[in-house]
Amino acid sequence: MATELIDTHAHLDDERFAGDLPEALQRARDAGVIRVVAVATTAVSSAACVELASRHDVLAATVGIQPNHVAEAAPPDWDAVVALSRQPQVVALGETGLDRYWDRAPFALQEDYFARHLALARELGCGVVIHCREAEADVVRMLRDDFDRHGPVRGVMHSFTGTLETAQACLAMAWPFRSPACSPTKTPKPARRRRQIPPDRVLVKPTVPTSRRSRPRQAQRARVRDAHRRLPSAAAGLIARRAGRAHHAQRAVAVGCS
Ligand SMILES: [Zn+2]
Repeated sequence: MATELIDTHAHLDDERFAGDLPEALQRARDAGVIRVVAVATTAVSSAACVELASRHDVLAATVGIQPNHVAEAAPPDWDAVVALSRQPQVVALGETGLDRYWDRAPFALQEDYFARHLALARELGCGVVIHCREAEADVVRMLRDDFDRHGPVRGVMHSFTGTLETAQACLAMAWPFRSPACSPTKTPKPARRRRQIPPDRVLVKPTVPTSRRSRPRQAQRARVRDAHRRLPSAAAGLIARRAGRAHHAQRAVAVGCS
């Protein structure tokens, strides 16, 4: 059986895809991707992701407000996210979470929005896409508090660069991990850490540009295209490590290009 891949995290409402999204989605299909999740960052982008998913069968959508955008969000923005969350194209909320790396929103406000996303996900029974940057202890604290009161919610730790201890704490709460997009230099022994996380809980991610300002635009697009082509081999390594796990062997849950 051919490997079936799901791209769990793509910012397809980005203006850079405006001219050739159908071609980009066809490249993903050609690489064996059966579903791409268009991940939102603001209320406007939430509406755009839902609209894209309504036009392209291969797409699903998230809706939510990313922690670095919560300060610019007005009350109607959250109302819009809540309304959009009931659309049939929506499979998860986010991205949400906490970020101490950038200083773009008061931390208490980030916590407030993170809690709102978790509560809404529980109400809807859908997943959560979590952005966590230099805020591991705080994310674990909030997830643990939520878990202790209500039990597990489904979701993905996106761009995970944390410690093994944080990973183990999240594993105990049933969270899978998407390998880091950010520089691994701050993360000691990432390979060893990955070996200690069960392979059926790790999502793979080919290396792609992380800073939109770090490379010329054309070079960024070329690297994203290369990432699509590398998906099958990246996933094959993961699947190989899953050999013998019958319930996971036929489908790789994991890839991403943004
Ligand atoms: Zn993202």
